[in-house]
Amino acid sequence: MKGKLFIFSAPSGSGKTTIVKHLLSTNPGFAFSVSATSRPPRCNEKNGTDYYFLSPDEFKEKIKNDEFLEWEEVYKNVFYGTLKSEVERIRNEGKHVIFDVDVVGGCNIKKHYGNDALAVFVKPPSVEELRKRLEARSTDNKKVIETRIAKAEFELTFEPQFDVVLINENLEEALKKADKIVQQFLGAGH
Ligand code: 5GP
Repeated sequence: MKGKLFIFSAPSGSGKTTIVKHLLSTNPGFAFSVSATSRPPRCNEKNGTDYYFLSPDEFKEKIKNDEFLEWEEVYKNVFYGTLKSEVERIRNEGKHVIFDVDVVGGCNIKKHYGNDALAVFVKPPSVEELRKRLEARSTDNKKVIETRIAKAEFELTFEPQFDVVLINENLEEALKKADKIVQQFLGAGH
């Protein structure tokens, strides 16, 4: 049987990456769908683990060759996308796929896979809290943070399109809830 798909989407800074990493470390049958991007790596990021880092031209070439399940130009010349080959590789190994993608990408993947996929919307308690988290992470400069806040306000409007909403107010609680959501979907025989 082919693996199921778990889509985690949220404005960046909502804590979805922490939740995804937790699920990966506690569930050996799960594998992370490594996205492709044309943004440069942050200091601790590795090619092939965090992202496949491509130049804008390489990314555009793959779009032309129809290699993406979904892709977006999130900022000018900054592309993000899910490669079809990545998802197929993981599912053919019989593993469940976890996606950490933005809300638009998440909706597109859900549409494609229907009941085989569970789309989870990770929600920060408030926009103010989101700002604090982005500032604390401090991998981005002030202008980038402001752009992300404006984007987050738009992204929060996508909540009704998701199967489940996971509010990340207290991380420990959120991780427990995430475990439960995943086990329920695996047990539901979708
Ligand atoms: P970051 O640059 O902080 O790693 O990610 C920026 C945004 O791009 C995040 O919201 C992240 O979830 C999203 N993203 C990462 N991979 C993909 C992808 O494959 N497709 C789409 N649509 N968005 C992605």
